[in-house]
Amino acid sequence: MANNCIFCKIITGEIPASKIYEDNDFFVMLDINPVNRGHSLVIPKTHFANIFDAPEEITAKIGPMIKKMAQAIKTGVNADGLNVVINNDQAAGQVVFHAHVHLIPRFEGDGFTHWHGKGGETPADFEETKTRIISEL
Ligand code: 5GP
Ligand code: ZN
Repeated sequence: MANNCIFCKIITGEIPASKIYEDNDFFVMLDINPVNRGHSLVIPKTHFANIFDAPEEITAKIGPMIKKMAQAIKTGVNADGLNVVINNDQAAGQVVFHAHVHLIPRFEGDGFTHWHGKGGETPADFEETKTRIISEL
């Protein structure tokens, strides 16, 4: 548990939440400010900031947890689709620095759109970008 972390306090019960699931590794609750009805957060119980600090043990388990919760949420609120989103670091919109995955039910005509591609990349740009990323693997 990290000092002054709101999600750690929710996990320990110090702050109330609309919990929908809990096991040894994860706590799942409704987001307090939902994008759509059923918007939920899958939160690892271990405190770490985001994907860059994630322990292997958690990354190995989070896929099946997302699948299980996404299915229940989509059916439970009768959604037409669902976005899985992780904001990592401030530049990507992260506000709470205890890692979490957003599961956002989507409904036909709900008015939300995705970000748009900027375009403008040349074949040389793609080649350079590809090489830079591959060199980090
Ligand atoms: P992010 O850090 O990925 O930008 O988003 C943090 C999310 O946590 C927001 O969607 C916000 O509504 C949610 N959130 C922040 N504080 C609380 C809280 O005390 N309870 C719940 N249930 N959600 C919270
Ligand atoms: Zn925390």
